Amino acid sequence: MNTASLNKSDVALIGIMSDANSSYMSGAALAPDLIRESLHCESSNRYSEHGIDLASHPRFLDVGNREIEADPTSFMQIEGHIAEILEQDALPLVLGGDHSITYPVMRAINRFYGPVNILHFDAHPDLYDDFEGNPYSHASPLARVMEEGLAGRLVPVGIRTLSKHLREQVVRFGVEVHEMWNLDIESVGRDFDGPVYLSIDLDALDPAYAPGVSHHEPGGMSVRDVLGIIQQLPNEIVGADIVEYNPTRDINGMTGMVAAKILKEVAGKMLRDS
Ligand code: MN
Ligand code: MN
Repeated sequence: MNTASLNKSDVALIGIMSDANSSYMSGAALAPDLIRESLHCESSNRYSEHGIDLASHPRFLDVGNREIEADPTSFMQIEGHIAEILEQDALPLVLGGDHSITYPVMRAINRFYGPVNILHFDAHPDLYDDFEGNPYSHASPLARVMEEGLAGRLVPVGIRTLSKHLREQVVRFGVEVHEMWNLDIESVGRDFDGPVYLSIDLDALDPAYAPGVSHHEPGGMSVRDVLGIIQQLPNEIVGADIVEYNPTRDINGMTGMVAAKILKEVAGKMLRDS
């Protein structure tokens, strides 16, 4: 469907087919349709755990995919695709793509809401100044976001890869990191003031739960950890992305099903709260 027919508080599912800024392997551009396939798979229903049925909900709408070329100008047009949803007062639920897309998505979010807080699930803080000379790298989106003042607080959870440079970036940008080694799940995301944007890199999860990602980083979160934090977030969610599903690395589609499960809970919470 077209974004022009969206209404206020609709949750608009949009796929962004882009993985040109991945540093290690491609594949994430193929993710959106495979996550949808898992969502619609007959092995399960489409209810969130709090009883929101995505199969029949009048405010859960799919606006399809946008194919993004590799050059920087085409890449930054992602901002316009998300702005089209926000112009209708609808809420974007974005399926990546690699994590680089969060920078242009946040530019659009900032245009409409100002600097909102970001709750960021990831093994990596994605704060590299640039990665191998590419400032748009999927290792750098949150550095761009913080440089431009697009976010309020940035709160990453699941982090287990901090190098010296990345620790310096954490201090530079005042990032409030929940590292994996001493993670206290109950304390995550309980003290935000105002609306929250969720950015969910599937490699926050332990590879045992989500092998279909480009960067396997053992020692990660469980699916239940992630769902629990989302379900208990007291604040309204104004937008979300689920990124870095790489189907070429998946085993029996299990990571696709994990992405669809997270999608159901995120959409369910957005629909409950709006
Ligand atoms: Mn990431
Ligand atoms: Mn990551």
